[in-house]
Amino acid sequence: MSIPDLLWLLLPVAAATGWFAAKRSESRSRSQSTKALWDYSSEFHEGLKGLLSDQAELPTDIFNTTSDSANNAADTHIALGNHYRQKGDMERAVFMHQSVVDNQELSDEVRASARFELARDYDSAGLLDRSEATFKALIESGHRIADAYQSLLQLHERESDWSQAIAVATAAEQQLGESEGWRIAHYYCELAADAIKADQEKDADEHLRKALGHDDSCARASIMLADLALLNGQYSQANELYEQVEQQRPELIPEIIDKRFDVFQKAGDAAEFDSFLKRIHSQRNAYSVIRSTRQIIAERHSPQLADRFFKDQILKRPSLKGLRDWAHDQVELSKPGERDKVQVICDLLDKVMEDKPAYRCSSCGFQGNVMHWRCPSCGQWDSVSTIIGVEGE
Ligand SMILES: [Zn+2]
Repeated sequence: MSIPDLLWLLLPVAAATGWFAAKRSESRSRSQSTKALWDYSSEFHEGLKGLLSDQAELPTDIFNTTSDSANNAADTHIALGNHYRQKGDMERAVFMHQSVVDNQELSDEVRASARFELARDYDSAGLLDRSEATFKALIESGHRIADAYQSLLQLHERESDWSQAIAVATAAEQQLGESEGWRIAHYYCELAADAIKADQEKDADEHLRKALGHDDSCARASIMLADLALLNGQYSQANELYEQVEQQRPELIPEIIDKRFDVFQKAGDAAEFDSFLKRIHSQRNAYSVIRSTRQIIAERHSPQLADRFFKDQILKRPSLKGLRDWAHDQVELSKPGERDKVQVICDLLDKVMEDKPAYRCSSCGFQGNVMHWRCPSCGQWDSVSTIIGVEGE
């Protein structure tokens, strides 16, 4: 290893050591903390030197100190292990963290921190069984329980192992006393989605009812059950479930409006259909709802009535999408001499709307044009929603 490389490698060690020393110095004087910083055994320094020199063989023991400085040294080990993990050197990362875990002289808290990082090393190395076993050992030890459960859940979510995720979330709920119902409901929805793909509707139905059993406000489960009912011609049940979604999460109405119209059309109850249209007419609606309803009114009643509804609604809730569609309507209606000018406005509005995303994650800001129940960027559940406002719905 070249000298500049070694200096670069030492930087994060110095930074981490300084940070941990600073953290511990809140109740100590500056001189005391400086002393603690350098009060490591000579074996520790020799071991660290060997490790940093990138020798082919790792030292058998670089951690040979039993004084008060042991926990400080352990913090350095953990930070250095994390650094190796970030660099992709898993052998050294595991070695550093395992050496802290194995040292019986250290406090339980410090060893638990090292065990947590060790589990993350295994995860990064793709040794998922070992990672899972290490997180479980941490939970059994009674330390970092919430962090360990969280990491285990992330691991199972990443692997789409929903049955395991349900088991872990249930255990977390029982041990930590915080409701995980909303999360478990999503896991059951995932199982239901898999069952639907495999044409196992009965299983899907069972999973979705369990989802609602864990979280009766789970709009996703209601939508999936309603979709199944619609598919099987159970229109009254489908209608009831879609209505339930409107109560659970009104912002999801644009996602289900076309299916609601489909149910009304297939069920054939004209009075109920018109009563629903009347309700839409009386409220301010998202643009997707306005567009779909306009088409339905034109089909069921008249294009003139549909246009009146459209103008009334886009004035109530102005949006670029509404303006664009209105401008397109004007092309046919304008005089031949003015048509080209209106077309230019249409083209401009089409261009403006071209790259506008329809959905945004409230947690990480991810944007896209497809609805996700779990953000593909940050992994949060229920954080992606329709963009509301002039540029959105
Ligand atoms: Zn996100």
